[in-house]
Amino acid sequence: MIAPGRPKRESLPRGRKARSGNRPPMKVPDDGEQALRSAVIATALAMNARGINRGRSGNVSARLPGAGDEGFLVTPTGLAYEDTAPEDIVPVTLDGEARGSRLPSSEWRFHRDIYRARPDVNAVVHTHSPFATTLACLSRGIPAFHYMVAVAGGRDIRCAPYATFGTQELSDKALAALDGRRACLLAHHGMIAVGASLAAALALAVEVESLAEIYWRALSIGPPATLADVEMDVVLEKFRTYGQPRQAEE
Ligand SMILES: [Zn+2]
Repeated sequence: MIAPGRPKRESLPRGRKARSGNRPPMKVPDDGEQALRSAVIATALAMNARGINRGRSGNVSARLPGAGDEGFLVTPTGLAYEDTAPEDIVPVTLDGEARGSRLPSSEWRFHRDIYRARPDVNAVVHTHSPFATTLACLSRGIPAFHYMVAVAGGRDIRCAPYATFGTQELSDKALAALDGRRACLLAHHGMIAVGASLAAALALAVEVESLAEIYWRALSIGPPATLADVEMDVVLEKFRTYGQPRQAEE
């Protein structure tokens, strides 16, 4: 049984294993947080079902609602998604303090830094999806070979230079590659997709993986031509207003 009340938060043991014992009881999540915990797990399971993630390599997070630095919920490290229960999901503040019974994903830093830097982002999906990772292993981003590349917010999808997983250096490089964008590849690693919701971030990750596959297929025949900047700008403008309600007509 979980004790009620708001225990003091425990600092994340940076670079060390979790301390055993003396862990404060977990905060009793309210209904909204409980639903978000379940949604994070559902999104992680959907990554596997959609074929964009295998095993335990990916991770998913969602920003906790609230005006302050409530932080975010992230999948725990080293636990298969099918074995993950809502209470295993780890709340982390924007200062990097984690609480709960599990350690957060080893990639919690780039999740945290994205939420700090990007108020437009409420969800982050990270995978080692096969086609995006194939390109990333060649340090290749995805150029404007297809107009749908603009779905990630720019004229191309950048590939961040390599850095060791879980490091601040990787986070810094990922954030630079995401500047003005909603997705990027990570050299010799995988990809990140972000969105205003878990559904949007997941859908974008699926789209980026599909674009990576088509680009890979095109490259097998020959280097595909890329669309001119002016054409991509037309698409970017259309995407900016796509699905928006029409202005009231005079
Ligand atoms: Zn990874």
